[in-house]
Amino acid sequence: MSDNNIYDVIIVGGGPGGLSAAIYAMRAALKTVLVEMAVPGGQVALSDEVENYPGFEKITGSELSMKFSQHAQAYGLEMLSDEVTAVEPGLEYHTVRLAGGSILKSHAVILATGGSPRKLKIPGEDKYYGKGVSYCAVCDGFFFRNKTVVVVGGGDSAAEEALYLSKIAKQVYLAHRRDALRASMILQQRIKSECKIEVLWNTIVTEIKADESGVNAVALQDTQTGDTRDLATDGVFVFIGFVPSNQLVPAGIKHNADGYVVTDDKCETQIPGIFVIGDLREKYARQIVVSAADGCTAALAAAHLVETKKGGPDTCELPEDL
Ligand code: NAP
Repeated sequence: MSDNNIYDVIIVGGGPGGLSAAIYAMRAALKTVLVEMAVPGGQVALSDEVENYPGFEKITGSELSMKFSQHAQAYGLEMLSDEVTAVEPGLEYHTVRLAGGSILKSHAVILATGGSPRKLKIPGEDKYYGKGVSYCAVCDGFFFRNKTVVVVGGGDSAAEEALYLSKIAKQVYLAHRRDALRASMILQQRIKSECKIEVLWNTIVTEIKADESGVNAVALQDTQTGDTRDLATDGVFVFIGFVPSNQLVPAGIKHNADGYVVTDDKCETQIPGIFVIGDLREKYARQIVVSAADGCTAALAAAHLVETKKGGPDTCELPEDL
């Protein structure tokens, strides 16, 4: 193996966590590579507006993620556009295999792979994906100008995306399975005062229906009475949470019942030198600022680990006459 493929730190994933880790690792003079199979930015790049990242009262998700990326690249970060297929722990070095055939080695691996949208798993959801079913309002909202859409979910994502869609669509129905939203109070108040949004309380979507031109209705069920009905709609946006992307987490690393990885306060797993950060890590709050903080923590801990493995910081040889 060429020395070119041996790093101090390999970061897998280019969202806020991975890019923050990269900034701290580069500033700690670690030989670092970040591998990302899509465009850097992560889930936040698909958000309309971000209003809770300190320093930015309001910024679009794509602009914020571009700033993260530019900041990391300002330190000369090496970025590889490839898919990681395996992370194999080792004693001296951990191994990271890429779909393109490359094999990378490093003292520390920081996994920042986040997750993907949870699915409803109802008839029509997969079949009409891209024909009226979407998991991204910023990407697909444009196609529903002056049309009717159903947003499913009751958390921050569903509330934010319903508000975004209300600026485009003629009518937005927010279908939530309970009688209270999980979303933050400020979003709940905005939902209440947006006349284009009607909340369908205690309602589940049981089927997505379509004709040859795409989605045209959803089948609804009242969770209290069991009553069913069809509601005409042109689109369905599903925001019912998140499934952690834990496929690359090496076997034996502890995770909770929902698949989130358990780490210590340095974001390190039970395997020394394998760190997990951001939305993949078990934690109380899944926020951009927390993912960024995880990136900082893991990179600083990785710097300490690398220094220890290499036998301490370089010392300057003192001239003999001193
Ligand atoms: P979430 O907070 O887990 O909310 C998921 C929602 O979907 C809940 O209301 C849940 O209902 C509902 N749900 C789950 N499974 C369902 C199913 N099978 N059928 C129907 N409804 C279902 O997920 P999220 O909104 O995607 O947010 C994920 C994390 O990111 C959260 O920590 C959130 O705070 C954070 N986030 C923050 C911001 C922000 O601060 N600006 C923006 C987006 C996301 P129940 O309420 O009944 O469980």
